[in-house]
Amino acid sequence: MLSAADIIAYLDEMFPRSLAETWDNVGLQIGSASSPCRTVMTCLTVTEAAAAYAAEQRVDLIISHHPLIFSPLKRVTPEEAVGRVIYTLIAHRINLFVAHTNVDRAEGGLNDWLAESLGLLDIGMLDPEAEAAGYGRIGRLPSRMTLRSLAEYTAEALNIQGVTMVGREDKLVQAVAVCSGSGSHLWPAALHQGADVLITGDVKYHTAVDVLATPLAVIDAGHFGTEAMFPSRMAELLEKEAKKKQWPLRIIVYKEGAGPMVTVQKGVFDGETDL
Ligand SMILES: [Zn+2]
Repeated sequence: MLSAADIIAYLDEMFPRSLAETWDNVGLQIGSASSPCRTVMTCLTVTEAAAAYAAEQRVDLIISHHPLIFSPLKRVTPEEAVGRVIYTLIAHRINLFVAHTNVDRAEGGLNDWLAESLGLLDIGMLDPEAEAAGYGRIGRLPSRMTLRSLAEYTAEALNIQGVTMVGREDKLVQAVAVCSGSGSHLWPAALHQGADVLITGDVKYHTAVDVLATPLAVIDAGHFGTEAMFPSRMAELLEKEAKKKQWPLRIIVYKEGAGPMVTVQKGVFDGETDL
């Protein structure tokens, strides 16, 4: 019988835990590797909705990008969101495995998936010293376009509401650096490697001010937008492996339609409240 350990062994081979940051918390967070595994669910974050869906679908193993347990917990109670998720998972005998910065850094991991989602060509490591693993990738667009067009294209390619950009609208760009999640600290590396633009998430005001004084442009596609492909790409890998090994495994993708942050365009506020 297939066990969680079989799936975990494959994930460890693809995304060695030794690649994870020391501050990170990856690996099995809930449950036991010896549990039988018939159904796997991939997700970006184990929200309460994700946990409820997993319970409904009789999932045995969740593979999440973001750690559920990150800072040490002092208590597990249903009064807190993390506690409620833990309750749900344990009550339904669902195991939870986290693959976070090891997937960000691994070759063939999240940063490659992001670069591929944007249709970049000649994708390489952003940090030339990183060799086989590191944050960020650099590649090129099939043809030059304006920053404005790339911003619109990025929102479309990543299927998000919109993006924020730093730089002149008509700036021509072709060399593109990307970093999934919070990667704006990599902007000096992107500039140094000859990127015209860095696409990432969580860009802060002061970072934007600094970047604006350089030839580099930045597109902030959001933390969620740059990582939202995790569940489907992870599921694809598992599908392939399951086929190869003839695992009797059902694989479910939990896709959040949008992250927790919603972009609202300026409207005409007439002073009336909806209440
Ligand atoms: Zn993230």
